[in-house]
Amino acid sequence: MRQRISGLRPSCGGDQWPSTPENTVTVTTNEHFTATVLGLPRIGPRRELKRAIESYWAGRIDAAELERAGRALRVDALTGAQDAGLDSVPVGTFSLYDQMLDTAVLLGALPPRVAGIADPLDRYFAAARGAEGIEPLEMTKWFDTNYHYLVPEIGPDTHFTLDPVKVLGELREARELGISARPVVIGPLTFLALSKGVDGVAPADRLSELVPLYRDLLARLADAGAEWVQLDEPALVRDLSDAEVQSVRATYDALSGDTHRPQLLVATYFGSPGPALDALAATAIEGVALDFVSGTTVSEVAALPALANKLVVAGLVDGRNIWRTDLEAALGEAVSLLGSVGALAVSTSSSLLHVPYSLAAEPDLDPVLRSWLAFGAEKIAEVRILATAIGSGTEAVAAELAASRAAAESRRADARLRNDTVRARLAGLDAGHTRRADADRRRALQREHLQLPLLPTTTIGSYPQTTAIRTARAALRAGEITTAQYEDRMRAEIADVIALQESLGLDVLVHGEPERNDMVQYFAEQLDGFAATHNGWVQSYGTRCVRPPILYGDVVRTAPMTVDWITYAQSLTDKPVKGMLTGPVTILAWSFVRDDQPLADTARQVALAIRDETVDLEAAGIRLVQVDEPALRELLPLRRDAQQRYLDWAVGAFRLATSGVRDDTQIHTHLCYSEFGEIIGAIAALDADVTSVEAARSHMEILDDLNAVGYALGIGPGVYDIHSPRVPAAAEIEAALREAIEAVPAERLWVNPDCGLKTRGRAEVEASLRNMVSAARSVR
Ligand code: GLN
Ligand code: ZN
Repeated sequence: MRQRISGLRPSCGGDQWPSTPENTVTVTTNEHFTATVLGLPRIGPRRELKRAIESYWAGRIDAAELERAGRALRVDALTGAQDAGLDSVPVGTFSLYDQMLDTAVLLGALPPRVAGIADPLDRYFAAARGAEGIEPLEMTKWFDTNYHYLVPEIGPDTHFTLDPVKVLGELREARELGISARPVVIGPLTFLALSKGVDGVAPADRLSELVPLYRDLLARLADAGAEWVQLDEPALVRDLSDAEVQSVRATYDALSGDTHRPQLLVATYFGSPGPALDALAATAIEGVALDFVSGTTVSEVAALPALANKLVVAGLVDGRNIWRTDLEAALGEAVSLLGSVGALAVSTSSSLLHVPYSLAAEPDLDPVLRSWLAFGAEKIAEVRILATAIGSGTEAVAAELAASRAAAESRRADARLRNDTVRARLAGLDAGHTRRADADRRRALQREHLQLPLLPTTTIGSYPQTTAIRTARAALRAGEITTAQYEDRMRAEIADVIALQESLGLDVLVHGEPERNDMVQYFAEQLDGFAATHNGWVQSYGTRCVRPPILYGDVVRTAPMTVDWITYAQSLTDKPVKGMLTGPVTILAWSFVRDDQPLADTARQVALAIRDETVDLEAAGIRLVQVDEPALRELLPLRRDAQQRYLDWAVGAFRLATSGVRDDTQIHTHLCYSEFGEIIGAIAALDADVTSVEAARSHMEILDDLNAVGYALGIGPGVYDIHSPRVPAAAEIEAALREAIEAVPAERLWVNPDCGLKTRGRAEVEASLRNMVSAARSVR
């Protein structure tokens, strides 16, 4: 077959196309597809799946009803995708909780502790969220996204067995609907790379047991009518050792060696597979999906002659951000690829799991801003347009290309994208704006200013989100109460939380954050340059969904954002109240961020806004300010060679945000949700006077790691785990503290829970903090 695009020139690679007549491509099959996405969203356009699952958990609906709700969402998503023109539709990316957990079920790799649960659905949810006496699987971030997957455990008792009911069922369901279905399964290398070994087992050592299972699976999918199967291997975009690259080759030689199997598409995303692409190209797989939005280049493809007889599924439409694609630029890349590949299909760069369903649910968005955006449904349409242009020439989609060009031009020209005052202020900054006095000097001044006891006790910021808070927020949204009434109710909550903390005898108080729906959205709503959506929900984990704000233009703080609340809290007590802000890196990580300038530049703008807020808090009499950066680790690039650059700008942004205050004002930060190993140096470089970290579950190892890099500032290793409703005994907290004191001199040690308390009940919080204060007193 021959693919040509009339009306376009390659974006690079000179004139190799279309002038060379030998540019005829041969495909290993004539059955390849041209337009697809790597995965479909699953929570439902209105979070229908969340509601159904939570109803099931609460016993309001039964398993059959939950299955009906799931099916209805799948049917809508599959038929919607096919009707929109995809000629291969991914199936199996639906999940009741998480795709890694689904893969653990597929491979018979659920932990032994749930094996006793007879009902498969109960067993599944027990692994996901725990059950009476059963710890759930750990949860961690999916590459550099804010999606959290469940970490499978591979131990001596893991005996892999194939249980393909889910994927076979979804394939059958799709085929009955007449869908050109392409089953999607996480590949063996990624499954093992993301699993955790227990009791001395190294997951990678178990690869040879998995390969036969995958071969069996492929044969069964072929029997069930699958022409193509997508094996997701995003782990290949990380740094791989030579041995790992060899195992890519060996694994896919083995999987592609059988004759009775569907055609194999190996999908990589979130970066370039680098040497793993060479290994994949050398095997007999029929296709690779590559992410051209975040890293893979046309020249990498051109450099691999073996790709000349494979299908390359080009991720040209960003699957994880919400900007409209510059279709002509994407087409230019597509054209450049044509000469080097066997066949070309257009796709999103990743699954659509990471973006909201459709702009159709956002009638109130500013129409100009809206014209710059593409959510899930709009991305599918973009894929179709690109595929049509490649298949039939640009004339066939001239109007669509013109609209895309007009949107790009409107965005480039929009005045809201540039604020000259902010740009001038940033241009005028020098190194002095990211540096504070020597840490020892600050410590001495702060000791004088704050007069805190040894081992000061404090909390991370939020207190339980009570029914009163939720009711007030709903009433305000519904227009049933005025803003003034709402604010009164929030002040009452603050007064309550202050009184509670005084009665417990905590040393540094917080206002409890009742007014914050979310630690990023709260600031996004008040800063220029951000827009919010009504229904732009994205799955964060399980049934938890978030609505990331859209950071589209220069960020400007037009007024103080937190000062009234914090000073109100301070007015109620003689104890110091800590101001509470979210840091620039976390604000970026949990937003959809503009892609027309480097993240580092955007981070500085956000940092400047936060800096102004810290200065205003200080001027209003606040003596400690905490700037949370729980997402510092999340944005760490997947490839080591890019990490230092990121850490430099991330640390720089934090320091810009926090070095505008006096030396006697104490800056705190809070980090959580991650393995800190790789960023330990950066934590020290933040130069916060006090850093609180999640440590209760990782048993204080973080203290040794910090010591190893010469960290000499204040540290509050979480002394108990707030992720569980269990109230820790005072003796237990005391033991944790004594362990901490072994590693850190008492003068630098703070006593706090390991994270915010917003998800906990009031009674547990009160009991736990009482024990924490008493433990601190006895150790003092
Ligand atoms: N200050 C925030 C809170 O306490 C921090 C949240 C977080 O660590 N993610 O809720
Ligand atoms: Zn936290």
